[in-house]
Amino acid sequence: MYSIRMRANKDDKHISGAEMLVTEGQITGSAVRLLERALHHEKGKPGSVNISIEALKGQVNNVTSLPVTFLSSKDVEEGRNTASKILKCHGIPEGCIKKAFSLIAPSNGENMRGAILMDMKGRRLEPDERRGIRASRMGITEKASLELFNSLSTKGLSDCYTKVKEALVLATKVSSVRGTIAELCWSDDPSYTTGYVASKKYGYMRVPNLKPEGDSSGGRVFFVNDINPVDYINEIEKSPVLINRFGGIKDSSEIYNITGG
Ligand code: AMP
Repeated sequence: MYSIRMRANKDDKHISGAEMLVTEGQITGSAVRLLERALHHEKGKPGSVNISIEALKGQVNNVTSLPVTFLSSKDVEEGRNTASKILKCHGIPEGCIKKAFSLIAPSNGENMRGAILMDMKGRRLEPDERRGIRASRMGITEKASLELFNSLSTKGLSDCYTKVKEALVLATKVSSVRGTIAELCWSDDPSYTTGYVASKKYGYMRVPNLKPEGDSSGGRVFFVNDINPVDYINEIEKSPVLINRFGGIKDSSEIYNITGG
């Protein structure tokens, strides 16, 4: 298997990135798709595009994806409230949750390239706070992608297929690493206001309205407990994880029962 990664910059700022795990026969087609994507991003034309291809040495961990739940919210206040309640259900202290929200929506408008790593005391554990930590070397098989697509289609949700697929791959890998309690995310794409909370405990829960339309801030927080940061970061960045089955769509009533609505 090979890890193939794309990164596009404009004026020394990151504008888009994506990655896949592929077989040798899929390298060319995948590289072209990633390049097309870098050249047609809503944040504009890139000044530079890097595509790297690496033969994986270690063993690939095959996993089933987290199950997906679609939640609803009418505005940003309700969306953030729902995400906070879910995080609280994981035992994450309120102070940490508040800090995470303010860090993802920075007042200086500068987004990180990677994620914030936060322990249960609200301490940040990334060695470089401007960069954060990057989950990498993860992918999904064509069979599992098709299972996901078919499940979304039967619910009339196929238009969010690509966004769900990419976020689900990352969230499944992060949740599979020992010490991860939950992840909070929303995109830095100005038009994409839906985010998620994900964990091994409850799955991948999409929450609409985590930021206002037109807002270009976004980010991720990995909430962790009882980790050795060096080992944790190494696993998040380096150990290959391939989703070979889709974990299904879960009814939202389950999580609303747990959070109290
Ligand atoms: P995106 O969902 O691609 O719009 O990314 C939203 C934010 O998540 C970015 O601004 C980064 O801060 C963070 N992020 C993106 N990709 C990764 C990754 N592979 N690992 C960790 N954090 C990421």
